[in-house]
Amino acid sequence: MRKSGSGGLVYSTESGRMCPGCRQPVAACVCGKPQRPAGDGVGRVSREKAGRGGKTVTVLRGLALEDAELVALGQKLRAACGTGGTVKEGVVELQGDHAEKVVAWLLAQGHRAKRSGG
Ligand SMILES: [Zn+2]
Repeated sequence: MRKSGSGGLVYSTESGRMCPGCRQPVAACVCGKPQRPAGDGVGRVSREKAGRGGKTVTVLRGLALEDAELVALGQKLRAACGTGGTVKEGVVELQGDHAEKVVAWLLAQGHRAKRSGG
């Protein structure tokens, strides 16, 4: 039976130390682990067609960033490219073809990045 406390580590008679964040045994703690496949840290920038309308979008994948960091990065990229876009499930999408600019911008910000695909 688990006992939950307020703050600090929580103990369980069966599992020993429990993580206060995720309420899992420390050995099975999932805190800080990404819920999606982690990027390898190299941003891959590709130009793709979005939806059936076939509008060109610039897609960035592969950066090893937390979602919040990626959202912030997406905002800066939209401003840098003067376009709109979205960030979802670890993928930054910008409207229009900005692939070269995105790669250059990422490199200038100290990220690793390269063109991918078309
Ligand atoms: Zn945890």
